[in-house]
Amino acid sequence: MGYCAQLIQPLYICRTIENMIYVSRKEHFNAAHKLYNPSWSAEKNKEVFGPCANENWHGHNFELITTVAGNPDPETGFVIDLKKLSSLIRSEVIEKLDHKNLNLDVDFMKDKMASTENITIEIWKILEPKIAQISKYGTLHSLRLYETPRNFVDYFGG
Ligand SMILES: [Zn+2]
Repeated sequence: MGYCAQLIQPLYICRTIENMIYVSRKEHFNAAHKLYNPSWSAEKNKEVFGPCANENWHGHNFELITTVAGNPDPETGFVIDLKKLSSLIRSEVIEKLDHKNLNLDVDFMKDKMASTENITIEIWKILEPKIAQISKYGTLHSLRLYETPRNFVDYFGG
């Protein structure tokens, strides 16, 4: 049981329901941000966003977990080459975010609230097509982004 779906010529992905497995890579970045809605008063911003509304910015140690789902390639046993996945995440995402101000320095966050949710959605848009280019047997399944060890979001695309 399985299917091959053509994505963008000549890329395609081959999958079977059996042996579906999930492969993850964790990467790290430090970044500053401020959550602030300019149409609200300073008091309301502080009430809603707490310390994240601090006028002079503040930083977080982010952890990004990228999970690719698929079947092992019969030739390598890999769903995706994790060395390739790691260098892709670093060049396309981490280098653009690490030691940056998310509100000011990051082109794909322009005019968006620099929330963990919005960052994750933008990272998905970047990584999903690139992962399809480097893996015939795997597709991006989910992203988990930790803003703090206790606060994180999961995104499954869509
Ligand atoms: Zn914050």
